[in-house]
Amino acid sequence: MTQGRARLNTLGPMDVELRVIACGLCHSDLHLINDDWGISEYPLVPGHEVVGRVVAAGEAVNGLAVGQRVGVGWLCGACLECPSCNAGEDNLCAVPKRTCLANVGGFASRIRVDSRFAHPIPEGLSDLQAAPLLCAGVTVYSPLKRLLPRSGRDVGVVGVGGLGHLALQYASHMGHEVTAIIRGPGKEKDAKAMGASSCLDSTDAAQMAAAEAGFDFLLVTVSADLDWSVYMSLLRANGTLCLVGMPAATIMVPIEFLVGEQKILTGSSIGSRDMTREMLDYSAANEIYPWVIRMPMDRVNEALRILADGEARYRIVLTA
Ligand SMILES: [Zn+2]
Ligand SMILES: [Zn+2]
Repeated sequence: MTQGRARLNTLGPMDVELRVIACGLCHSDLHLINDDWGISEYPLVPGHEVVGRVVAAGEAVNGLAVGQRVGVGWLCGACLECPSCNAGEDNLCAVPKRTCLANVGGFASRIRVDSRFAHPIPEGLSDLQAAPLLCAGVTVYSPLKRLLPRSGRDVGVVGVGGLGHLALQYASHMGHEVTAIIRGPGKEKDAKAMGASSCLDSTDAAQMAAAEAGFDFLLVTVSADLDWSVYMSLLRANGTLCLVGMPAATIMVPIEFLVGEQKILTGSSIGSRDMTREMLDYSAANEIYPWVIRMPMDRVNEALRILADGEARYRIVLTA
């Protein structure tokens, strides 16, 4: 990372200032650092899985007090008046404020955000446990909750990494039969400890062919451009394939999947404020925790290399 001179924004009447305690490291931080999406603004301070303590509050802040422990994810603000915001889907706001773009992110020692996007952390979650939930956690919890209202479905989680290792835990806790779909061997034991009842090796064509029409729901947590027809074939009629990763890809699939078999191809974007708070409570109540590697903030460059090499098992959290 380069040395930045990014400054804290001014403390508005609805804002809180947080002293950062811990910050998870997400693949999106790498995308931002490399400007893979063409939206980065430099100097850039990454970090959007932030756990901190409130050290100052604007005069109109309601419901948060100095000293309180809160978490901030990808969103640090929204207009709160567009149709999406009015429908409680502020994660889909037309003019979102993103933690590392509009603001200094959680690699800083202090950040300032709209207090309505600073979520109280339940007692049952430690700082290290809470941090990764604020982006990775809600990103997989939200589609499982929204798109799978009934339990007992056959769910496949594609990829066991920062997102996938939490998706396996949530999906099994929600009462689904869960399969981890992994490239090659090496993560089966971990995947089963996270709640998968079976594993499928996506590099084994025979295994993939045998699994055709075996799933009601596939959650794709990897950021790779896959052979989407193969994955659509794994679904039963009326099944849903949902992406939460953002591969730089244009997806083309035979129309037969959509019309003839009524399969749904969709995606899901983090989660609303309500969904984030629900997810935190659900995680604490059901003891769903990320598998965390703790590293001090001054080893951030080494941590970023580990993440880029795909060696983070399964989430690095930087501590102040
Ligand atoms: Zn993220
Ligand atoms: Zn809005």
